[in-house]
Amino acid sequence: MDALLEHLEEVIGQTRATVAETLGAGQAIAASDDQILRTMTLAAELQRLTEAVLVETVGEVSRRSVQRDRELRLTTRRGCHDVGELVQRLTRLAPATAARMLRGARPTMVAISFAGEPMAPHLPAIRDALIDGELGVDGLLAIAGPLTAMKPRVGRDDLLAADAVLAAEARGEGPSGEPPACAESLRVQALVWSAYLDQDGAEPLEDRAIRLRGITLGATRDGLVPIRGMLLPEVAAQLRRISDAVNSPRVDGDRGVSFRPSTASDESGPVDPRTWTQKQHDALATALSVAASSELLPTIGGAAPTLIVSVRDGDLVSQTGWAHIDGCDEPVSRAVAQHAGCAGVIQRVLLGDDGRIKKIGTEERVFNRHQRRAIALRDGGCLIPGCGVPAGWCEVHHVTEHAAGGPTHTDNGVLLCWAHHRLLDHIGWRIRMDQGVPEVLAPPWIDPRPRWRPVTKSRTRMLDTFARRRT
Ligand SMILES: [Zn+2]
Repeated sequence: MDALLEHLEEVIGQTRATVAETLGAGQAIAASDDQILRTMTLAAELQRLTEAVLVETVGEVSRRSVQRDRELRLTTRRGCHDVGELVQRLTRLAPATAARMLRGARPTMVAISFAGEPMAPHLPAIRDALIDGELGVDGLLAIAGPLTAMKPRVGRDDLLAADAVLAAEARGEGPSGEPPACAESLRVQALVWSAYLDQDGAEPLEDRAIRLRGITLGATRDGLVPIRGMLLPEVAAQLRRISDAVNSPRVDGDRGVSFRPSTASDESGPVDPRTWTQKQHDALATALSVAASSELLPTIGGAAPTLIVSVRDGDLVSQTGWAHIDGCDEPVSRAVAQHAGCAGVIQRVLLGDDGRIKKIGTEERVFNRHQRRAIALRDGGCLIPGCGVPAGWCEVHHVTEHAAGGPTHTDNGVLLCWAHHRLLDHIGWRIRMDQGVPEVLAPPWIDPRPRWRPVTKSRTRMLDTFARRRT
């Protein structure tokens, strides 16, 4: 290994000086086409050789980091949690690239037998092509993916045959007679080989689905977080069921929305301006918020896994400024803080001008369980006419904001579903309390002659109303 170390140091020194001399001086602009293309080709060859060294050393680091005794692991001895962290620190690679090096190392590593003897790697010819600089990490993974997947189902001889042919294609010496294959072409060839050798082939649909399931949340951009992924069918079905339940308006006669006194103006239920995808989003939000406050999920540091939103006290009162959510890199609107504060727990932290923590207040739970239950009995579900979300899935909204001095009293709390709570400012419905009885004012596009109307979804209170009207 000493020879390699010495050589790498020498090569790096020379290469750095030459790169600075030519590229640094802007000589690429004056170069001929051939010179540019040849330089690119050679740089890639150097990169493939470098990658061979990286793959081999990353594999060795991982071999030295699997001991049962944590203290003996190379990663622990160097103060890192895992191989990925150690590799990233030393190489400055991105986590995904470090993971690729590790994935490439597995099928090409020289294994050690129980007796301590070196054993052939899974893909010996591919390993040779890697070490010769004929195959880089991209090509290696393109081949190793399909071949490793079929390994449990095909014989060793078949695997070695595919290994040899694909390595030859990578070198430009394969049966196809083509020049050295690029990574994408190797991937296609490897898939063909695995389909041929692994006749009953493809892993069962279920296994594949289980392997491919996943959800990725992207970085916040323009106030939105992109979500991508694949759901298992039963998970998708569950989400659809929840969406149906959250979004089905209850307007069927006397079991439905009821103004008191009834005005027959809303027989068909108010129009919901949200699109189908927006409703699906809000259903997911409702389910997450119900789950987070259900006390059934694992806790984090002893607390329910609810959102932590920080906002300046003054901003909350003056309705200006921004709020910040833990785990979100962009600031969010103050409405988010108001929404979270309405439904959850508030803790005041006083910071001095120098940023020092001066005082930590105790946690104030905004509405307690008893108040919540009483409000649920009175309101029966989300108060917005036409909304079918039942009481158990609703949040308690401060009619006069908590930050604006609104008391945490049942006379100031009403039930709203996640969407109507979060979007109250946007949808035009207004809510007020008249001597402890909630009243709503519809937006003009729903009610041409808007006026305040008492509203409830509570079966008990509806019955009372009917009884009173009959007498
Ligand atoms: Zn609602």
